[in-house]
Amino acid sequence: MNLEKYTLAGEKLPILAYPDPVLSAKAQPVTNFSPDLENLVKNMLFTMYHAPGIGLAAPQVGVSERIFVLDVDYDREVVTNSSGQDEIIMSNFNPMVFINPIITGTSGTTTYEEGCLSVPGVYEEVKRHKSIHVKYQNLKGETLEIEADDMLAICIQHENDHLEGIVFIERLSNLKKNFYKKKMAKEKVR
Ligand code: ZN
Repeated sequence: MNLEKYTLAGEKLPILAYPDPVLSAKAQPVTNFSPDLENLVKNMLFTMYHAPGIGLAAPQVGVSERIFVLDVDYDREVVTNSSGQDEIIMSNFNPMVFINPIITGTSGTTTYEEGCLSVPGVYEEVKRHKSIHVKYQNLKGETLEIEADDMLAICIQHENDHLEGIVFIERLSNLKKNFYKKKMAKEKVR
């Protein structure tokens, strides 16, 4: 399925910020592989590319269903055009969609400084599996499997956590977790 067309057209969906309750809820399995699902995925990809981010899970746009999109390969460049304005040029898209994913195997460990569109401005190292095996469905409801390593594996684990109601700061030490929780709560009040 050609997902690349979704980089060019779509609707930018509002992204929920931590600690919104939808981000803490366990998402429900997708059972209906309808045009509505395709439309949601299209808008999620558009939203991700224009945020910009490398992954986006349905709960982040207020939909508590087991869906995420990602692209760990695309290039994004800011160029100044002939009228002196900054323009964002994106290329080399490799959009992926995971529906009802299950991580069926893991090996090794790795750490990476992660960020999240729902936790703006926070970047912290998180320990993850280096390699994973994932079973998932595509937009047609077909079951697929992949082996993922490094950046792709990290991104899938981060997005899969969102489907379990886990935001990456929950995986930090208690000290850091409490610091960010207080900070986010204060920002929400303001
Ligand atoms: Zn995230």
